[in-house]
This record gives sequence, structure tokens and C-alpha cells, in this order.
Amino acid sequence: LKMEKVGKKLTKELFSEAQTYAQKIVDGLNTAVSPFHSVETVKKLLKDKDFIEIKEPDKWTLVGGQKYFFTRNNTTICAFQVGESCTAGSAPPDCFKIVGCHTDSPTVRVAPISDIETQGYKEVAIQWYGGALWHTWLDRDLTFAGRVIVLNEETGKLEDKFWHHPEPILRIPNLCPHLQGMDERESLKINKEEHLRPVIATSIIDSLMDLDETGEEKKATETESKYSIEKKHLKSFLALMAEGIGAKVENIVDFELSMVDTNKSCIMGLHKEFISSGRLDNMLSSLCATHALLEVSQEKLLDQSVNLIYLFDHEEIGSLSAQGADGSIVNDSLQRIYASFNEGNIDAGYKQALRNSMVISADMAHAIHPNYQHKHQSKHCPKLHQGIVLKSNCNQRYTTDSVSSAIIREICSRVDVPLQDFIVKQDIPCGSTIGPALSANTGIKTVDIGAPQLAMHSCREMCGTTDAYYYHKLFASFFKNLREVSSTLLD
Ligand SMILES: [Zn+2]
Repeated sequence: LKMEKVGKKLTKELFSEAQTYAQKIVDGLNTAVSPFHSVETVKKLLKDKDFIEIKEPDKWTLVGGQKYFFTRNNTTICAFQVGESCTAGSAPPDCFKIVGCHTDSPTVRVAPISDIETQGYKEVAIQWYGGALWHTWLDRDLTFAGRVIVLNEETGKLEDKFWHHPEPILRIPNLCPHLQGMDERESLKINKEEHLRPVIATSIIDSLMDLDETGEEKKATETESKYSIEKKHLKSFLALMAEGIGAKVENIVDFELSMVDTNKSCIMGLHKEFISSGRLDNMLSSLCATHALLEVSQEKLLDQSVNLIYLFDHEEIGSLSAQGADGSIVNDSLQRIYASFNEGNIDAGYKQALRNSMVISADMAHAIHPNYQHKHQSKHCPKLHQGIVLKSNCNQRYTTDSVSSAIIREICSRVDVPLQDFIVKQDIPCGSTIGPALSANTGIKTVDIGAPQLAMHSCREMCGTTDAYYYHKLFASFFKNLREVSSTLLD
């Protein structure tokens, strides 16, 4: 086994530790089925370790040594641990150590008016979200997950509820080869308007269910509800949703639902060395970053720094939104944390603190594919179980430069985490991450890294178990060692 110089040799003991950790990741992936559920999953982990929930509309009075989190839109979450030496009025934070990841993944979402009847089928009108490998959504047993807004009859207030139906209820069927011409068989072309609509029922059975005991069609007793939701979506689908969230159909105001594979995330392979799951991009990074913060925050942070994770929504569609990485949330919150220890003021000390800070932009990376080797630049071929990928692109699609890479190499060497270098092949356009937006908007030195995986943006992706373990160790080392490692490099 050829390894990079940094990092110790992969042993059976290390692999077995990684297997135990990978099971924690799989458990998290199985509950993080939509951005809302991802934030819920992380929130629960934070609350279990005594992180205090704060809200953006409230005044923040933070205390040194404490641990906090807040959410925006319930799809972006930020958690942080404040150093013990931060004191109100005299010692505001002097360094922010930030790991940024994302909670969203490419998927198919329900349209605002979704009820479609075609040739005896009940279908659901959709909108596509992000750039998935759309054909991988075909012939899967799918369900819905997301947010439903309902009117609480007793209080008269609108509330949001999260819904994830556990059973398969949707399917986007392939067209059999017998009904395709020769050229269609050779190249599967998906028209996103015509071919991604899932079937949810047959009209004949759906209307059968609408008959009462005497075989008469149930009287359309309900007059139109306040929000007219029943005019837009299939009645039996709304009934299922209402049951799932414990509300009445007529009180459903609106919803944002994504399609999710019901096939559970799992560990697989001859030696159980793969994690197979939807949403590895980027819940693997998000969960590893969360676990690292939880672990590090069990010990006192003795200086004036702050350890933070941001798990953003909307990365897959460009990050430009209130809760996206290209929005105001990072600057808003860093300023509020600082000002909370500085009598509400932002002064030169804040700008100085930014110069001592660093961001890790952590998003999944492309492992070399055994059947498409020529798609990687021959010297930059990240492999599973061989370490975290340091992504470079001198055109700033990734933020890594020699300073940020040197810092990460040293941070990894302290905990024996191997690194693998990556650039994209020069005749292929490079992907990007939240890194460039974050570094441009905050002015903070940033690095782009990721765990290697195959089949990125597929409905079902795969990665190596050891890399999840390395990832978590790298983040923990970043929180512990950044200050010492970076003291003469950042300015
Ligand atoms: Zn990603």
C-alpha cells in the first residue's frame, strides 16, 4: 500500500476503529434525509452535548467557555464553542476557527401545483433541484421528506412541521428497451420536464379509495379551504401528509418536499469498506465536522478563540441566499459573537481577529473511478481509504494556496491523517464549493478539502469508511492546533 508521507500506515486496528465510526455516520445519514432533517439531526447531537440554542431574532448575551448553536430557515445551522478567556467588555474573541459544509443535495422537489392525471396514472409535478445524475433517480422506491407549514387551530398561528414518510410511495419508472429505438437505447436522454415525474398512484385505485361503504362517491362536503391546498395536490397525498404531521388537510398552508430514496444508507463491500448512501455530498462532511466539534468541546478551550461549524443550505444551487454561504450569515454571526463580548461594538479588534482566523471549506472530492481512469489528471488520482483530498485550482474554483495547504498538511501530520492532492484534468471544467464565496465575503484565509467518493450527485453515492474517520480527526486537529500551526503564516 503506497501512502503519502504524512499519515501512518493503514493497519487493521485503525481500519476497525474506522468501521465503528462509520456506523455513526450511517445512522446520521439515515435521519438527514432533507436539509430540514439534516439540521434536526445535527441539532439533536448538539443538544445531547449541552450546546445552548440561541435565536437570531433575540439579543445574544454570550459567556466565555459556553457552547451555542442557532439555525436560519431550519436548513442552515451554526454551532460554536467560545474560549474560556473571552470576557464581556474586555476580551472579545481574537480568532475564529471555522469549518463550513452544506446540508443540501441535488434532488427532485414537489411543484406548487402537483396533481397530474395521465393515462390512468396519478403523477406528481416536480421541480429539479441542483445538478443530479437524474437517471439514477429512475426505478427507485421513493418517498417524501421536508417541511410543511400548518395553521394551529388553537393558537391561530402558523407553524412549521417536518415530515418524512417512511414507506415507498413514489417511483419514476424507466422506459423498457422494447419501446425504444436504437439511438434511444444507446443514449438515455432525460427531459427534466417530461421524464422525472414520479407515479404516486393509479387513478382507478385512487378513486376506489374515495368511495364510501355503499359504493357512492364521497360527497364533496368540504367547501374550499382557506388556503385552497386541495385544489393543487392529490387529495389522498394531502391526507397522508396531514396524518404524518398530525394536522387537518384544510390547515395545510404550503410545503417544501423533496424526494428521498427509501433504501437505507449502509456499510457494504466484501470487507465492509464502503459507505453506500444518498447525500454523502455533503452530509458526510457535515456529520464529521459536527462530531469533531462535539468531541473537542468536551474539553475546555482555554484561549480567546472560537471554534465554529457552519452547515449551509443552497450550496448545490450557488449559495446565494439568506441561508447560503454567499449570503450574510457568516458575517452577521461572527460580528454578533464578537460584539457580544465588546459592549455591542465592532471595532478594529474584530478585523484583527479575522486576520488570525481560518476557514476549512469541506466538501466531497472525486476519487479516481476504476472504469473511467482517463477522467483524472494522471498525477492527481485520489483513492478511497488513502486520506483526505486537498483540492487546488489556481483559477480559484477552490481556495487552497500554499499557505492554507501548508497549515492543513501540518494539522494532519499531528494526528496521522494522510492527504492526497487533487486538481481537475485541465480539459474538464472544474467544480466549485462554498470556499471562494466564504473567503471573498469574509476575507478569511480558506482551504478546500474533501473526502474522496464515487458517483457524486447520484441518488446513491459511495465512499470509503476510513476516510470518514480521517475527516473527523482532521477537523478535531484543526480546532485544537490551528493557532499554534498558523501563528507565523496568517496575516
Ligand atoms: Zn457538495
